Amino acid sequence: TLLQPQTKPRQPVLATALPGPKTAEIMQRDAAELSTSYMRPYPFVPDHGEGVWLTDPDGNTMLDFFAGIAVSTTGYAHPHVVDAVTAQMKKFAHVCLTDYPQEITTRLAERLVKHIEKPGEKWRVFFGNSGAEAVEAAIKLARNHTGRSHIISTLGSFHGRTYGAITLTGSKTKYKAGFGPLLPNVTHIPYPNPFRPPLGSTPEACGDAVLAYLETLFKTVIPPSEVAAFIIEPMQGEGGYIVPPAGFLTKLRQMADRYGFLLIYDEVQAGTGRTGKMFSFQQFTAQGEDCQPDIVTLAKGIASGLPLSAMLAKESVMTWAAGSHGSTFGGNPVAAAAAHATLDLLEGVVKHPGCGDSLMHNAAEVGSYILAELKKMQAEFAFLGDVRGEGLFIGIEFVKPDGSPDGKLRDAASMAMFERGLLNLDCGESVIRVSPPLILTREDAQTGLEIMRAALHSLS
Ligand code: PMP
Repeated sequence: TLLQPQTKPRQPVLATALPGPKTAEIMQRDAAELSTSYMRPYPFVPDHGEGVWLTDPDGNTMLDFFAGIAVSTTGYAHPHVVDAVTAQMKKFAHVCLTDYPQEITTRLAERLVKHIEKPGEKWRVFFGNSGAEAVEAAIKLARNHTGRSHIISTLGSFHGRTYGAITLTGSKTKYKAGFGPLLPNVTHIPYPNPFRPPLGSTPEACGDAVLAYLETLFKTVIPPSEVAAFIIEPMQGEGGYIVPPAGFLTKLRQMADRYGFLLIYDEVQAGTGRTGKMFSFQQFTAQGEDCQPDIVTLAKGIASGLPLSAMLAKESVMTWAAGSHGSTFGGNPVAAAAAHATLDLLEGVVKHPGCGDSLMHNAAEVGSYILAELKKMQAEFAFLGDVRGEGLFIGIEFVKPDGSPDGKLRDAASMAMFERGLLNLDCGESVIRVSPPLILTREDAQTGLEIMRAALHSLS
């Protein structure tokens, strides 16, 4: 199937000063009523969207380079997703999956495991509603299956805001301050960040250094026989869009086998096609690495914005008793319909005009174009310390002349991009992430890059 061509590439429309009057009024009401979760430094209120463009109630149209935090895989109001969701709504919106199987969800599980199963290795799926819920399921399953309690996680990681998930989260203390006590028996070790190698190591050796550190912990403070699992983002998201060195995940896999703990990949942000593969760890297996996990968590981009998450596990690991874990809304059929439509586009069963064979291919191609262009900008602007990533999972790190992170300059750059009509999002200490919808065409990417370049020029 080939969908109708989309609206031609456009430029942002800045109809009013930002924020316009309607936007300002909504922001004021929002501040009076909602909990204080709103964190963005700049004023934007979405009114409607189309493709990679979002329009506010004052008629300002912005190009979207953040996709609702790596969620809006197919952009806004994608006709194939809208049709699928509408059709399911007309059938039924909910009949609890803990009580009755639903073919649309069964078929979604069948479809998801196809992306990870290897010959002789069957996988199963648990559906939830959010990334945190998938992570909670993974913690419970790992403990239940191994009969062990300790979990190893990484510094800089983000796994969600529920109790188990914030305990595993290794980034900002504000996520934990005042909320304790948290889960016992969780230890964080450094993430192998080649740009800022931990433990006094080098870009190439930082993976080995991290694993050697873990070995030391196993010899001194954590009996490995008590370790249920190691959870890691195969490419770290909130921590700064970081790609670990080649070989690291394979050695981690070997260590997991040696000590009998499970390997959990949190693919909530980097998964569902964003890097150009269904799962980001498959970037490494595609290079011949052997780093298959035992459990994977997925959420964000899987249903193009409808709340859905999945915890996938090897059948040999998914051994908890029937009914011991569940969720009223998990695997909701309307969200499942959106996920099928999203997978249709990701896999190329349905083709999106201007995006080649599939959205996964498009992410790889447009992503490598953006990365190459950003590398050129890096040569131009001394304060761009690093640009890195895979597909449409790209981080731009801002540095001071001494190479240390420059969060202030990053914030100024983010604002300068916003003022020119580009929605963008920070991460890590001094990074802007490029995580647009995967339907981004090369033309729209070019528009975004031009805005970025103008914004960076305005800083220097
Ligand atoms: N894991 C990762 C890797 C994430 O990036 C996030 C969200 N940023 C989560 C888990 C939590 O997802 P949610 O907000 O849907 O609970």
